[in-house]
Amino acid sequence: MTYAAIEAGGTKFVCSVGDAQGGLLDQFTFPTTVPGETLGRVIHFLQGHAGDLAAIGIGSFGPIDTCPQSPSYGYITSTPKPNWQSVNFLGQLKAHFQLPIAWTTDVNAAAYGEYSLGAGRQVRSLVYYTIGTGIGGGAIQAGRFIGGLSHPEMGHMRVQVHPDDAFPGHCPFHQTCLEGLASGPAIAARMGRPASDLPADDPFWDIEAYYLAQALVNTSLILAPEMIILGGGVMKQGHLLDRVRAQFESLTAGYIKTPTPEDYIQGPALQDNAATIGCFALAREAAQGHFPAKD
Ligand code: ADP
Ligand code: ZN
Repeated sequence: MTYAAIEAGGTKFVCSVGDAQGGLLDQFTFPTTVPGETLGRVIHFLQGHAGDLAAIGIGSFGPIDTCPQSPSYGYITSTPKPNWQSVNFLGQLKAHFQLPIAWTTDVNAAAYGEYSLGAGRQVRSLVYYTIGTGIGGGAIQAGRFIGGLSHPEMGHMRVQVHPDDAFPGHCPFHQTCLEGLASGPAIAARMGRPASDLPADDPFWDIEAYYLAQALVNTSLILAPEMIILGGGVMKQGHLLDRVRAQFESLTAGYIKTPTPEDYIQGPALQDNAATIGCFALAREAAQGHFPAKD
């Protein structure tokens, strides 16, 4: 019995097949191009393993429709990514594979990976943020994803602009939302070079930490999770996590009771594999009829 994990990112797809214990049997990574070609490659990869496959877990870039009652459940919906608006991702896979399929966002999948096998193994609730090309957040409460009409869009929350930051913002919808101020492309547009080229002692990093810390304060006030995990390319700046912790402490001003900043705000224990590991865990849930979770 095997399980498939499809980590469907806006830049690249990582398709994997693993055994019941989560051991990796095969993996195929390729760039995200147009929907027909990209999903064709997913289907072709899965067909090579179809004999043994018990279930599939998909974590997709979005926005996507995650509401099972909706006519467009399983679609990528209003994404700004060219050619990918209104693509019936789940439907195309269902047409080829009569298997249970778990369908959620890429960041929910990463959250689920950390929740089941990573930094959040010991907790019942957590929030996972990715700070990369975009900013996204996924929240889990007692084993379920938080969401209703749609999945959360935490990356587009409003934050206060830092008094020393004159950048007009980079989000085409809201300019100075969190993603518009603090994503990798927002940093690059502001600083005139890629975020990865910015030295660790650049004063900008405290402004970046100020934005991320505001998001964490809002998250803590609204959801009160037991842990917040920060992943994604921008967090590869090793010094950034401690800067966020320090600014979080200062902004909360002692009002919110949390564990120590080191326990409460963590990096992903599964590194870049969180989403794929989460997709495997969700596929196993789907195989047992537990996805979407329902009382
Ligand atoms: P994606 O969000 O596309 O799935 P990533 O999470 O790797 O992929 O995020 C990519 C973004 O992270 C880019 O904007 C890139 O400039 C930025 N990035 C990657 N590595 C670093 C680094 N070491 N320091 C700062 N920013 C980085
Ligand atoms: Zn926005």
